[in-house]
Amino acid sequence: MNKFPRSAYVHIPFCHRRCFYCDFAVIPLGNEVETLQGNGSNTVKEYLHFLYKEILTNKYKSPLSTIYIGGGTPSILDPKQIKELIDLFKENYGIDYGAEITMEVDPASFNLEDLHGFINAGINRFSLGVQSFNNQILQKSGRRHFREDAEKSCEWLKRVYGSGLIKSWSLDLIQNLPLSGLNEWQEDLKKAITFLPPHISIYDLIIEDGTVFSKLVNLGKLKLPCDEEAFKNSKLTHLILKNSGYSRYEISNYCLPGHQSRHNRVYWSGLGWWSFGQGSTSSPWGEKFTRPRISREYKEWVIRQYEFNLDSSLINKEFVYKELDEKIMLGLRLKEGIDIYKVLKEQNWGPIKFEINFNKLLEEWERFLESGLLIRNGNRFFLSDPEGMELSNQILISMFKWWDAIN
Ligand code: SF4
Repeated sequence: MNKFPRSAYVHIPFCHRRCFYCDFAVIPLGNEVETLQGNGSNTVKEYLHFLYKEILTNKYKSPLSTIYIGGGTPSILDPKQIKELIDLFKENYGIDYGAEITMEVDPASFNLEDLHGFINAGINRFSLGVQSFNNQILQKSGRRHFREDAEKSCEWLKRVYGSGLIKSWSLDLIQNLPLSGLNEWQEDLKKAITFLPPHISIYDLIIEDGTVFSKLVNLGKLKLPCDEEAFKNSKLTHLILKNSGYSRYEISNYCLPGHQSRHNRVYWSGLGWWSFGQGSTSSPWGEKFTRPRISREYKEWVIRQYEFNLDSSLINKEFVYKELDEKIMLGLRLKEGIDIYKVLKEQNWGPIKFEINFNKLLEEWERFLESGLLIRNGNRFFLSDPEGMELSNQILISMFKWWDAIN
């Protein structure tokens, strides 16, 4: 068995501008950016130089079975730059036959010619950040694209998928954006499925500190769907997608048979992954490490790795996996849930400690098991769909409480 991670995330931090809800490590380059030679190209080239250095400095190169190019807006890059990046992995790590190579794309940041360029570079799966098809909602959220851009992008992806040029694509929406009541959300969902995307991600809006949205919320100037409306939106999502043949394989992810994201499953199932680029988080052997979010600091960090011949995986391979609470949290997000007995066994607790802690967790979860939010099948526990998935926070909070109490 290959003991090295088989998956790599690559962060491209550039965007045209920052959306009002976004707190990712992004560098807004303005509307007129041209990454190969025009406006903003020097910033991009400099970043890619350090990114490549980081990729090459890693001491444990071995063939990859999934690569995910995320951001930011990777589709700001020219197809030639994407090819250069994929070739770098090909030549230095190797890419398995049949590997899943995903790239995030944003409507209005690429055209049909670019799309074919990305495919020729080796991309075989796209994740399209539509967020909403409603122009008012898009504008209110600080998005740069319009409904027409999203529709055009969806049509292109549908076409290249239909003609077998890519293996899959995902249409991503955000639930509970401002102005998105039940009617608007229903329209968004119905519009989305007309393009027959094999995969749909539905992210819940989270108000992050320091964003425009968080400032507006603090000033009482942002009207968001209330809890009851949000719950209704979620139920509607479940109903519409289920009736359209989509299965919910993770809290935020739905797909047609055979289209689960292999790369994302690596995160959820606790397998290790590399990551490269400013602000990105890797976890090759279990422990997580996040690179500096600020460009200057990231570049200095890369230089240190390179000049002092440091181990960019940062930690030793003997590290015993993730924290148990995080492992349970990620496992519960999946449709198949998690074998609690097995993960608790891995803790190397003696039989008495095991028994006591296991029973304490069962006590915490008793009310959820009784109400049917949580379901037990032998040693496996999973959330009911949709109720358990919608109210997963309550179950996770009780698990974190248990974890704090026993530590
Ligand atoms: S395009 Fe995506 S990464 Fe860029 S600012 Fe908007 S939400 Fe953030």
